[in-house]
Amino acid sequence: MAELQIEDIRRLAHATVVAAASREESLRCAGRLAAAVVCRSAGPLPCGVCPACRKAMAGIHPDVIRVKRPEDDKGRPKKEIQVDQIRQMAMDAVVLPNESERKVYLIEDADSMNVSAQNAALKLLEEPPAGVYFLLCVTNPAKLLPTVRSRCAEWSCIGGEEEQDPAQRKLAQEFLGLVARGDRAGLFRWCAANEGMDNRGAAAFVDCAADCAARRITGREPAGGMGREQLLRLSELLDRCAAMLQVNTGVKHLFGLLAVDAIAEDENRGVQH
Ligand SMILES: [Zn+2]
Repeated sequence: MAELQIEDIRRLAHATVVAAASREESLRCAGRLAAAVVCRSAGPLPCGVCPACRKAMAGIHPDVIRVKRPEDDKGRPKKEIQVDQIRQMAMDAVVLPNESERKVYLIEDADSMNVSAQNAALKLLEEPPAGVYFLLCVTNPAKLLPTVRSRCAEWSCIGGEEEQDPAQRKLAQEFLGLVARGDRAGLFRWCAANEGMDNRGAAAFVDCAADCAARRITGREPAGGMGREQLLRLSELLDRCAAMLQVNTGVKHLFGLLAVDAIAEDENRGVQH
C-alpha cells in the first residue's frame, strides 16, 4: 500500500470496501488504513510509531473496532456475520470516539454478512455518524449486495480497479443506456435478444451492470444522464435479480423482470419508434 497523507484520510470515503485477492491481504490493508485514520502524525500515515498507531496495530485501540464472524461453541468462526452484530455496531457507532477524533469499524469477511445483515447496514453506510469510518474487508466484492456496494468507495489493495470483462461491460453499458433514455421498446428488444444466455452469463451480466451502476453513483464513471435515485432504484432491482439467480430462477424470467421494471413508469420519456 502506498504511503498516505493526511489529505488522503480527509478524502477517504466513510464507507469503503477493501478488496484483496486473499483474506490476509484485505485485513492487512484495512489494518493499515485504520491505523492511518487514527494516527497522530502529520504524515505520511500511518507513522507506525505514535501511541495511536501502535495500539491500532496491536489491536487494542478503543476507536478501531473489529467486527468478526461469531464463533460456535467449539471456537470456530461461523459462516455468516449476523444482523444482530450490525445492529449492535449501529448503536455503538453513534457513541463518540474515546481517544481519537475518528472511529473506525473494520468488518472482517464483510462478504460473509448475510442478506439481512447487509440490509441492516445500508442506512449506516449511507449516512454514517460524523467521524465514523467503515472498512468492509472482502475477497469477493460481488458477494456484497449491489445496494451495499453502491454506497461504498472501493479500495483495491492490488492496485487499480479490477478489470471488467469487455463483453460483459458492453452489455451492461447497452442496458444502462436504454434505461437512461427511457427507451422501453428498445429495452424490450434488448432483453428478448439476450434472454437465451445461460445462468452463469446472466449472473456475470447482473454483477457487471451493478458494478457500473455503483461506479456511476460514486462518481467513478460518468452518470450517463441517470440521476442518483434512478441508479439506486436500479441497484435494488439488480439485487433482486442476483437473488433470483441464486435460487435458480430461469434467465428468461430475469430478463422479463428487467424489461418490465428497469424503467420506472415516470421515467418513460416517450421515445418514438
Ligand atoms: Zn501514527
